[in-house]
Amino acid sequence: MNWLANLIPPRIRSFVGEQKEVPDNLWQKCPGCEAMLFHRDLAANHNVCYHCGHHLRLSVKERLKLMYDDGKYSELPMPQVEQDPLKFKDRKRYVDRIKEAQSKTGLKEAITVVCGTMGGMSVVTAVFNFSYMGGSMGVAVGEAIVSAAEFAVQKKAAFIIIPASGGARMQEGMLSLIQMPRTIAAIEMVKEAMLPYIVILSDPTTGGVSASFAMVGDIHIAEPGATIGFAGRRVIEETVREILPPDFQTAEYLLEHGMVDMVVPRSKIKETLVNIIGILTKKAVCETKPGGGNGGKRKNNGQNGRGSKAAEKTGKNGKQENTSEPTKTKASINETKTKYSKVSSQARTAQSSAKAAVKQDARECESVVEEKTKETALAGKR
Ligand SMILES: [Zn+2]
Repeated sequence: MNWLANLIPPRIRSFVGEQKEVPDNLWQKCPGCEAMLFHRDLAANHNVCYHCGHHLRLSVKERLKLMYDDGKYSELPMPQVEQDPLKFKDRKRYVDRIKEAQSKTGLKEAITVVCGTMGGMSVVTAVFNFSYMGGSMGVAVGEAIVSAAEFAVQKKAAFIIIPASGGARMQEGMLSLIQMPRTIAAIEMVKEAMLPYIVILSDPTTGGVSASFAMVGDIHIAEPGATIGFAGRRVIEETVREILPPDFQTAEYLLEHGMVDMVVPRSKIKETLVNIIGILTKKAVCETKPGGGNGGKRKNNGQNGRGSKAAEKTGKNGKQENTSEPTKTKASINETKTKYSKVSSQARTAQSSAKAAVKQDARECESVVEEKTKETALAGKR
């Protein structure tokens, strides 16, 4: 209450009734356009600003609900690890920091591992929570990623990681840095099992996390405007003594420079994931096979108008309709096969010619080096 309110005599104040204070968390300022956003509208829009499309951070539960079929998934238990291996203490004890983060977020660690289905395909997802100690990667997080990868291999499921992290957890020192190669080895295991590994880079993905598993995905999807990088902007500017472009280390900048495959808004993330996993696991091909269901047929008809017309012409008989499509697909498969063999033979010849060129270059280099050494030897004799 301000000083003006204090001037009102208490009797009048009791008559009018004291003003109810508006809770602080009902409105939020958009970091993109500075508009005030009402919490209910914001939640309905998956924490995306409805004025400028800025993607605000999203809680783990909301994110998973958005991705999985019917918003349903089951959480995997966290592997047990020693909480404070170094008995670390700075201004506070590390154990106290952990307790504080746990009570603040209601989570056990900075990572949550779940499994469920997306478009009917089983998927294991590991999501970081930035509000838990900056989503930093310690022994527990590393162990969780390893066990999640093992689970994905066991279940023959696609593996998704959604990092939102400041990097390694400093309170665990060297042990947190060891998690970088460990997680890479875990991802390698998923890749050897021929399972898709997709990374959804959310805001922010920096430090040791971006320098390990987050940058070795089969597909890198990023959220619009997300900060993705290794060292901070200021550190780089001071090191290279140059002013960096304003969009440096954003998802869009990385897309332009080939580090990210696609920038996908939150509203389209599920359909994108289902598409990608379908293509990588060849589930989409299975759908278009004869008797594969209506979904496949619709796709075929949409892609080439001729197919649908031919089906109409062949007429009322459903059987004929069914037989015409597989022959078409067979023909198209053969066509692609011949195309592929042509391209591959071209690639092979190009490769062999490149090799020959490299060898020739090497020979030339050797002869130049020999000449130079002879010259220097002669010069030395003189
Ligand atoms: Zn905005």
